[in-house]
Amino acid sequence: MLLLAGLSMLPDADVIGFALHVPYEAPFGHRGATHSLVFALAVALVSVAVACAVKLRPLRTGALVFAVVASHGLLDTLTDGGLGVALLWPFSDVRFFAPWRPIPVAPIGAAFFLTGYGLRVAATELVLFVPLWLYAFWPRRGGKGSPLVRSGA
Ligand SMILES: [Zn+2]
Repeated sequence: MLLLAGLSMLPDADVIGFALHVPYEAPFGHRGATHSLVFALAVALVSVAVACAVKLRPLRTGALVFAVVASHGLLDTLTDGGLGVALLWPFSDVRFFAPWRPIPVAPIGAAFFLTGYGLRVAATELVLFVPLWLYAFWPRRGGKGSPLVRSGA
């Protein structure tokens, strides 16, 4: 679960581009290639190979990793700032926003995040995602362990 949570943030590794002076609007700028569905697919394919090596169910692992990584870019289209998300990179550099954008864009960097606006963003995300956290952490009866682990393994 922690690894999947980490993978959900992987697309934002592109913020290193700010230090390297990659323009925001460039294909490898923020919310560019790493936020695309092709990037999510590439990460999922790597996870399938890893799953085979560590004896997890490869198709379930790949599907879950794809959903987790792809959800980042899709959720970013619901934010109210930035230049949009290059969901279709490398086939198109067009940046997309969803028609409905209820999530305030998070400020980048701790100095900006610890402001009144940053705290409002954190509170909004908390309200939006609490139902998902409740679902994820709700105790279940009859659990047979992780659905990614092969039975008998
Ligand atoms: Zn992002």
